Amino acid sequence: MNIQKLLNDTLDNSADSYKSGHVATYIPALGKVDPTLLGITYYDLKNNLVYSAGNDCTPFAIESISKVPVLLLALEENGLKNVFQHVDEEPTGFSFNSILNMEINKRHYPMNPFVNTGAIVVNSLIPGKDSAERFDRILNFMKEICNDPDLTLNEEIYHSESQTGNMNRSLAYYMKANDMFKGDVEDILDSYFKQCSVNVTTKDLANLAALLANGGIAPWNNQRILREENATVVKSIMVTAGLYDQSGDFSSHVGVPSKSGVGGGLISAIPQKAGIGVFGPALDKEGNSVAGIKALNFLVKKLNLNIFE
Ligand code: GLN
Repeated sequence: MNIQKLLNDTLDNSADSYKSGHVATYIPALGKVDPTLLGITYYDLKNNLVYSAGNDCTPFAIESISKVPVLLLALEENGLKNVFQHVDEEPTGFSFNSILNMEINKRHYPMNPFVNTGAIVVNSLIPGKDSAERFDRILNFMKEICNDPDLTLNEEIYHSESQTGNMNRSLAYYMKANDMFKGDVEDILDSYFKQCSVNVTTKDLANLAALLANGGIAPWNNQRILREENATVVKSIMVTAGLYDQSGDFSSHVGVPSKSGVGGGLISAIPQKAGIGVFGPALDKEGNSVAGIKALNFLVKKLNLNIFE
């Protein structure tokens, strides 16, 4: 199989689908991104080779895909048991910024680490005396697991997130009122907004996905970065909650552990086989990349990567 040709075909097949989506505008700086951009990187674990096509070097905001690295860091620092005392591992069936399920179910914890409530709680579990210290740790960890020492904060996106993040403030204050996390609300929100505003490329994301797919051992140097059990748990939550209220549909039709972000990124970690990073900024109504989903669907079918088959 000529994977480079297949990636080019994948992008040709998905290139027009941005027309049925829209870039996120609720964070104004994201609204400026060109919706026609499309890139993909495929990390083949079997042969330890990386293939890439399209806008694979264009930096974009990691957004909710950051919930994967920050959960991994919290797990590495605190252990599985301690982290899952503060956040559950259940799909919500609600949008990523919904508060509804917390009230209806009278929960003591957010339902999973990949909705905003859960991610804010997970951010509070990162050791550090303030937002600056927590974010420093998060950024250094992202550099390590994406194998990219040049990752930086996108200041424009960060300020835009912070200025308009009133929904996230509501979620955080609601949780604080119910004693769901320790620390100062605005300080935790600040490091949450920053974690979402790190610039990445599909190459960075394919490395992160390949590390997860490889059970926590970095395929680029054979060093263990993550405990295997942490990589396993995170992949399983990606199956049940990685694409919010579209997770069930995506799992049954595409069938690979994945995580999306409103910056237009998507990662897929296919155990022992491959890590994939995709970027297509136009989103569907659930907030997932339209072209990204189409590209993944195409590629997964061509390469028989569905983990349930
Ligand atoms: N920063 C975004 C938010 O908090 C992340 C959401 C997402 O990517 N789904 O709303």
